[in-house]
Amino acid sequence: MSINIDTERAIELYKTLSTEELSQEADRVCRELYGERVFLRGLIEFSNYCHCDCLYCGIRASNEDVHRFRMSEEDIINTAVLGYERKLRTFVLQSGEDSYYTTEMLCRIVETIKARSNNEAAITLSCGIKSSSEYAELQAAGADRYLIRFETSDPDLHKYLRGGISLKRRLKALEDLKMCGFETGSGFMVGLPGESEETRINNALLCKSLELDMVGIGPFIPHPATPLKDSERYDIDMTVRITALVRLLLPEANLPASTATGTVDPLGREKALAAGANVLMPNITPKELKQYYLLYPDKICLDESGYECIGCLNGRVGTIGKKLTLERGDSLSGARRKKLQFSELNREESFV
Ligand code: SAH
Ligand code: SF4
Repeated sequence: MSINIDTERAIELYKTLSTEELSQEADRVCRELYGERVFLRGLIEFSNYCHCDCLYCGIRASNEDVHRFRMSEEDIINTAVLGYERKLRTFVLQSGEDSYYTTEMLCRIVETIKARSNNEAAITLSCGIKSSSEYAELQAAGADRYLIRFETSDPDLHKYLRGGISLKRRLKALEDLKMCGFETGSGFMVGLPGESEETRINNALLCKSLELDMVGIGPFIPHPATPLKDSERYDIDMTVRITALVRLLLPEANLPASTATGTVDPLGREKALAAGANVLMPNITPKELKQYYLLYPDKICLDESGYECIGCLNGRVGTIGKKLTLERGDSLSGARRKKLQFSELNREESFV
């Protein structure tokens, strides 16, 4: 069977196969394109201040029990440079929506990390909604990728969960990011209260129609200090199945096996990697700060440095016949787009 499975067929497989069979299909597609490689990203959670009040999130503005922190510009840069010295080649800088970090500051951070990594490191930002001109400035400063999950494709549920902010606004942000030339990532949580099987399938279809380069999928884990504290906590099966469906729909995308997956099930990340995921994101935030960035409870690996985690992850991926790699790991769709633009540019030049 080829790697190009049409949408109807992918949904049929999703609806009819057991989780193990579906995972095998997705794994086959993933290996066809990415082989046994699992890309590593060094995650830096640099601020837990957020002006948003998403009902699901542990660091939402109204949670007064959170000990808030902000890393200085210098500390963010040094954390990434240390990662570069330890051979990591991609960094994800994530935060709440925190206007303390002006676009000018974020640009300076991106530019300095790029310069101090000999322009070898790819930088992904995950700092929420910004204006199209701000995204353009960040891209011009050298940021390569941007992640902003749409969370759920159900517009009413989205608005309810995100304190009145519409799904349309997040989708506009994704469109702006694409226009600026970012490798664009989005995704969703699995098991949100009010979600149905149809919502989950629509989530996967929305990923496909957005032609995403990266898709982050993780189980929703109710946080005790949020309005959703009494919501049901599901096991990992639904997340594994929908990860497999997204791999079938978007063969070329990079799909992380999220930390939340490993929180819900001790073997969650292995199960996601065996169902089409191909990325892991060890958390290299300074150890003393990690404990305060709790979007959800019971987060794993808080007592270890990200570098200790890499050793552990290496053993884990080995159990499913995969290998960690320190490459930049551009998504195949993003790389193809860049190549196209490059050849179009050359063509234009040859007419001059
Ligand atoms: N503020 C940025 C980035 C930080 S939040 C943003 O919202 O895009 C990163 C992701 O954490 C969110 O996109 C959401 O999908 C996830 N998240 C938040 N609360 C969660 C919870 N209780 N369980 C699982 N994932 C959660
Ligand atoms: Fe803020 Fe992101 Fe949490 Fe929403 S999910 S409250 S935007 S950090």
